This record gives sequence, structure tokens and C-alpha cells, in this order.
Amino acid sequence: MKVGDIPEVDRALKKEFKAHSAPIIELIEAQTHDPFCVLVGTILSARTKDACTAGAVRRLFAKAKGACFAPEDLERLTAKEIEKLIFPVGFYHDKARHLKELPKVLKEKFGGVLPNTVEELCELPGVGRKTANLTVAVGFDLPAICVDVHVHRICNRLGLIETKTPFDTEMALRRILPVKYWKTWNSHLVSFGQTRCAPVRPKCDGCPISSFCTVPSKCEPKGTEVTVDGRLPKSIGLTKAQIKRAAEFFSAQSSARVGVPFRSVAVVLQDDASSAEVHLAVNGAEGPTDAITQGYDPIPGEEKGVYGEVYVNCDRALKAAPKRSGWSPAKELLLYIAHGIDHLSGADDFSPKDYQAMRRRELSWISELTLDISRRGAEAQSHSKSPDPSALTTDPSVLGTRSARLGRFPKGRAHPQGAVTTP
Ligand code: SF4
Repeated sequence: MKVGDIPEVDRALKKEFKAHSAPIIELIEAQTHDPFCVLVGTILSARTKDACTAGAVRRLFAKAKGACFAPEDLERLTAKEIEKLIFPVGFYHDKARHLKELPKVLKEKFGGVLPNTVEELCELPGVGRKTANLTVAVGFDLPAICVDVHVHRICNRLGLIETKTPFDTEMALRRILPVKYWKTWNSHLVSFGQTRCAPVRPKCDGCPISSFCTVPSKCEPKGTEVTVDGRLPKSIGLTKAQIKRAAEFFSAQSSARVGVPFRSVAVVLQDDASSAEVHLAVNGAEGPTDAITQGYDPIPGEEKGVYGEVYVNCDRALKAAPKRSGWSPAKELLLYIAHGIDHLSGADDFSPKDYQAMRRRELSWISELTLDISRRGAEAQSHSKSPDPSALTTDPSVLGTRSARLGRFPKGRAHPQGAVTTP
């Protein structure tokens, strides 16, 4: 797709958009016409399905004393009360804390008036570029490009841009997208991503913009599959083929546990920088994290089952592993993948008890895994151009002792990943 194709593509996307229900943030704007309500709704919507966000928004906005929910209403509520009202949106604990801090920061930095620029909005607690851009575009009706995972993925699939992170995508779109498309680009592409151009197994049959799509291989329907993308540092001691096999194994275990077929899982290997970008874009949280899970509902006509992406941070695996005896970077990375896939089955770790249960399960999967990730195996891989991924062995020295494994996650440690998914 070229820049000159934008008007035609936008027309087609607009037509598709009208055939589906509007995203939650647009509905909030239509009902309140208030930028502050749009901001609150956008904060709540990160990593949460629209239906779930709608319920949280309804309960929270019902506490308004005036005609519209305002900062004073948040001031009156305690963080615990906010938490109860917005549960079970993703990261409800962090979001409640951010919302509680919001009126104070708003007063201190902006005299209580909500700013209308992306840079200023980003100074508010819990507000990243995605939230800020959406608030400016939808709440203030000003030109801004909100880039989330859908916009990032589809623009790259179309070949309109070639970027690695949502931030790069935003900057690239700012350069090439005519301003008149800025405000609607997000809603058109989000709707398109949710209903047709899914991350895995997009519904390319009948796609109105397939002639502009430059990555047809990604469009072909595939059977149950695991894909591994991204750069894999050699020092991790695993090959992509082994990671693929491990993800297939964890998916099979998880599928058997919940009785739901796992159709497709994409494992995306990241470094600290790209992890931080995705963490902010997907969860509205700052800094890199171990793993980020993104699950997707089947698009119409697709078989029921689990579809999702697991972003895992190789830098974290390399830095964290040496600090614990008996742990290799390979095992650390495998844990991130297992945890992400565990989340895809709907498992959550909101409470320390649930968290420990997940961790025990994932460690038991790893202990049953029969990949050759012994030192000898890793050494052989680094010297061989074509490592043999089918070499099987169980190496307990790699897996560590049971107590060492359980000691990896101290009781009660809050974990950054959530099970709630964004379609
Ligand atoms: S052809 Fe497939 S991958 Fe390309 S835009 Fe359409 S649905 Fe997406």
C-alpha cells in the first residue's frame, strides 16, 4: 500500500466500521461529550474487553454528584472503593490507584483543567501515549493519532509503514497520514482488527483491502499453529525451533486443563525497549516487563478456541536468570512463555493464591518438557548452523530443584501480567 492509496483504503475501512458497533470510547464521548469522562474510560479500557469496560464505566460514573463524572467525584472515593467499582477490568488495582491520584495531579500541574495536548496528558498518572492520543482525538475532537496494537499491526501488514513498535508507528503515521484521517484512523483500524484482520489467522477471504496488503503469506488460513517472531539472543541457549515446540507443549497442557482447543499462539521475542513500548501500548503501564499476553476472540466464521500472542522479554531472561542458582536464561524464558500461555486459557493471578497456583502449574509443565536445553545442547546449538530441535532429553540441572523453582516467586509478589484480554 502506498500513501496515495490512503483515501481508497480509508473509504473501505469506514464502510466496514459502520457495519459493526462503535468502540466503547466513542460511545462514552457520544453519551457524555466530556473529555474527562473519555480520559477515564480510556484508562479503564486498556487491556480490557469493551463489554467489561462498559460495566466498569457505568458503575463508576453512577457515583457522579453532578451531571457528568468529574475529578471531584474521584476525590470523594477511596482507592479501595474505586477498585471495587471498576473490577474486573485488567490491572484494576493499578488503574484505581492512578484514578485516585488523577485529581491531585490535575490540580497541581494544570490548575484542575484537563489539558488537551498529548505531551501534557502524558504527565497524568496512568496515561501513556495511546490514552493521551485517544483523549485528544475523541474527547477534544482535535487531530491526534492513537496507535494501539491493531493500528501498529495492520499498518505494517499493509506495507504503509515498516516499524517495530507502536511509538515508531505513531511517529511514522504523523509524517505520512494526511491530518484529516488522524481522528478516525484508530477507530477504523481497531474495528477492522477486531472483526477481520486479527493478529493470527486474519479473515482474508473477502477482505475489502486485500489488494493493498503486501504480506499475503500472513493472510493464508493455517491450521493450529505456533509462530515465533523477533530476535533471539544466542546467549539464551535456545533455538526458535525449541521455543516453538515448548509453546506447542504448553498450549497442549493448557488446552487439556480447560478443555478448550488452542488454535493459534504467536510468541514474540522482545528486548527491554520493545517490551516497554508494548507494555505501555497494551497495558498503559510503564517500563519493560517479563511477559505480556494478548488473547483474541475468534472472528466471525472462525472455529471456537484460543487465539493469542505472548510477548516475552529476552533481556529480562538474561538478566534475571544469573541471580538465581540453578536457573538458566533458557528456563527463565520458558517460564515467561508458559505463564503467558497459561493466561491465554483464562487463568488469572489477581490474588497471591492464584498466582502461586499458576506458577506451580507452569513449573510442572517445564519439568515435563523434554527439550534438549542442557549446557551441552546449548553449546552444540551455538556451533551448529542447523541445530537438531528433535534431540530429546530431560536435564534436571537445567530445571533446578523444586524448592529453587518455587522460591523464584516470593509469596504475595504482585505480577504485572493480567489475564483480561483486549479483543
Ligand atoms: S488481506 Fe488479510 S492480512 Fe491483509 S489486510 Fe486483509 S485481512 Fe488483513
